[in-house]
Amino acid sequence: MPIYNCHIHTFTADHVPSGYLPFGLVALLKYKLIRKIVFFILRVANPFEDRDQLHRYANILQTSYGQRQEKIFKQVRAYYPLDTKFVVLPMDFAFMSAGAIETDIYQQHDELASLRDNNSGQVIPFVAVDPRREEVLEMLKDLVENKNYRGIKIYPPLGYPPDHRVLYDVYKYAQRKHLPIMAHCSRGGARSRAISRQTAYAYTDPDRYKGLMKTFPNLRFCMAHFGGDAEWENYLENPRAEATTGKEKNWVSKIMDMMRSGEYPHLYADISYTIFRFEKKVKVLKVLLSDERIRSQVLFGSDFYMVEIEKLHEKRLSIYLRAELGEELFWQIAEENPKRYLGRS
Ligand SMILES: [Zn+2]
Repeated sequence: MPIYNCHIHTFTADHVPSGYLPFGLVALLKYKLIRKIVFFILRVANPFEDRDQLHRYANILQTSYGQRQEKIFKQVRAYYPLDTKFVVLPMDFAFMSAGAIETDIYQQHDELASLRDNNSGQVIPFVAVDPRREEVLEMLKDLVENKNYRGIKIYPPLGYPPDHRVLYDVYKYAQRKHLPIMAHCSRGGARSRAISRQTAYAYTDPDRYKGLMKTFPNLRFCMAHFGGDAEWENYLENPRAEATTGKEKNWVSKIMDMMRSGEYPHLYADISYTIFRFEKKVKVLKVLLSDERIRSQVLFGSDFYMVEIEKLHEKRLSIYLRAELGEELFWQIAEENPKRYLGRS
């Protein structure tokens, strides 16, 4: 039985724009000593307002500065059993209004196709789709039909809504070709400089997919990160805040309510990144998985290498998770559900 890790990255610092972080930090972090100091501070304290952003970028540099995707993949492959399969999600950061990128998305995709060819059966490549890219549908078709790409990654907080008109054509094609969609669904992560935090949240909100899933009833959507780390914390603090405080419904509740309703049988959520603050999160996860519908719609993923400086080392993640969840639940989210999501069962 192979494990399916449904969410990893192998893109490198060359694929990230020069202005990804404020204060010239991108340039500064290229110095090893400065990087070391920043990692140290991040480990012991929480001094930055936009910690998540810096955290992720520090990880990008730590793992990928001056590296190729092949080298990065070798690192994550060594953390798991030999037959593990990995969904690799490229990133198209070109339209986030954060400056120039050294290596464009075409090269990133080409390199990922070679990575797949060199690691037979282990790499499942997705296409990074940004609806603002010229001829993005042609790019997608080429990668699917000529290079055997197996799914689509979208990242709305980079500056577009998931119901962007160009994406309708993308979804129509995806539904016809049985390609699953992976959609970033966390308040953390990268955000376009051209939009406010509020707009980014509005684009990322799980509710935004309700209409789409009715329009494309056979299309499989995964809400990556299951709402995200911060929403899981809020959910733990006050699971039904909307009922008692009049606040917006928590994204974790939104996703679960959609799953429980039975109206969105092709909705999935992966636990990548979110599961890394392990002790607390795994307990919540176990309880959530007691619901039969939710149990069949959750996917195992790690978000390698965005999590490389978390305390829990990824090498241990799948083992701890398996021990905590037990065989049946573990293999359901790490094999059975991923196969269905990917269209392999
Ligand atoms: Zn990710």
